[in-house]
Amino acid sequence: MGNAEIALTLESYAALLDLAGAGYYTVRAYRRAAELVRETRAPVADLVRAGRVRELRGIGPGIERRLRELVETGRLAELEELEREVEPALVALARFVGLSSQRLVAVGRELGIRTADELRDAAVTGRLREVKGIGPSTERKILDGLTRDRRAGRRGLTINRARALAASIAVELDGEVAGEVRRWRDLVYELAVVTTSRVAFDRLEASPILVAVVEREPARVVAVTVEGIPVEVTLTELRAFGTALLRATGSADYVASLGELPEAPTEEEVFERLGRPYVPPELRESPFDREPPTLVAVADIRGDLHTHTTWSDGKASVAEMAAAAIERGYEYLAICDHTPNVRVVPGLDADALRRQAQEIAEVNERVAPFRVLRGTECDIRRDGELDLPGDVLDELDWVQLSLHAGQREDEVRLTRKVCEAMRHPAVRCLSHPKGRIINHRPPNALNLEAVIHVALETGVAIETNGLPDRLDLRDEEVRLCVEAGVPIVCSTDAHSVRGLGNMQLTVATARRGWATAADVLNTRPLDEILRP
Ligand SMILES: [Zn+2]
Ligand SMILES: [Zn+2]
Repeated sequence: MGNAEIALTLESYAALLDLAGAGYYTVRAYRRAAELVRETRAPVADLVRAGRVRELRGIGPGIERRLRELVETGRLAELEELEREVEPALVALARFVGLSSQRLVAVGRELGIRTADELRDAAVTGRLREVKGIGPSTERKILDGLTRDRRAGRRGLTINRARALAASIAVELDGEVAGEVRRWRDLVYELAVVTTSRVAFDRLEASPILVAVVEREPARVVAVTVEGIPVEVTLTELRAFGTALLRATGSADYVASLGELPEAPTEEEVFERLGRPYVPPELRESPFDREPPTLVAVADIRGDLHTHTTWSDGKASVAEMAAAAIERGYEYLAICDHTPNVRVVPGLDADALRRQAQEIAEVNERVAPFRVLRGTECDIRRDGELDLPGDVLDELDWVQLSLHAGQREDEVRLTRKVCEAMRHPAVRCLSHPKGRIINHRPPNALNLEAVIHVALETGVAIETNGLPDRLDLRDEEVRLCVEAGVPIVCSTDAHSVRGLGNMQLTVATARRGWATAADVLNTRPLDEILRP
């Protein structure tokens, strides 16, 4: 049993535990274990057999016991028991059509319904209404949900979660990820996988993660995960793989704009036969005619300019973060811990920043020519003042501004405050300008046009933050900056060594905003960062 399959089983087990009302920490432990197994290079089955799996961080005795059962028997008895108990297919369908899962499970038990087809049937024939409390509106909702707009009213997955899920499903189906995930949308409503494996396609319904099938055609199936996320699976022949991948990647509008698609084994060949230049998936959001630019890539990035350490709320030391940045092939790394105004986490005042300077100097002696930059994520206070004195800001290599409180202020006040703060001569970058938290907090009222205007005047760059629930600036806003000629900074806002890996998310966001390497400040060598 391979790591991907083990991870997928743990993932389903976590989802079922969640449904069964297990505690938050238990569910999280299994989700994390799934992630860990997926990322481990060595075959986890071998580690289990050798009794060494506990050496992986986060694997305790309970998880070890289940891993052993899984590796030795190929099954997890508790998972099968939970499947009988919590009816994952009905829960998935409920979430998919937007009903309470308890309700649909009760209805399903009363009428003996277990699949999407049976549910659709019961709705069409009026049997659903035999159940007390089910009226025409619920019936309509179920029918609509099963047949029409699949994204209406549902909550999307953040891209990192969607990527992990899609990757597992692609491995299971021996296929390739397409759809919104491949286009790196910040919120994903539907997953898509293209496979050439008839065997995998035919046994899709046995998958522990695709618990219900809602649409079925000879070479295309839409199934649903326990979370109610629809997954479109396309079966194609190798000679038409490029065509199928292009179609499944979308967007529908973009694909339609290409006209009739020729059959070809790769996407590159499809574009070639269409007589068009290749268009990267990130740009296929809506139809366009101009020649696509060469977009910025992770390999162009020379350093990360927004990271935290144990001095504030990070999990790693300056030295550990530097070592990890060197391993990524970077030339520099800016440490930008918080300032005191943040309050909910420790912030550094002038004294603390100067003590941190000594530690950074010591690390720099050991890692040269790599360079750790003294930076700050300086809060803009409620009154508009910067949260550090000017002489301290002048000492620093990299000053970026952030607004953490007061996100609900009106447009005029908020914009004035941020624009004034940007005019401080030490300031180099504005972080997560719109303050949104995906699925949690809407963007603030900051007027981006005004900010771009001041950025052009002052030379201040604007960040696209790589935290998966921020991605702020977002794609369209990046594009406004790029078109105006304001430099973008692709930063991870990493709070751990692992967090540095979110560079691919911020770069993808910049790519969706049509940014080339020349548009992104941290593709430039260190001396250009230090001396603008
Ligand atoms: Zn911040
Ligand atoms: Zn930060």
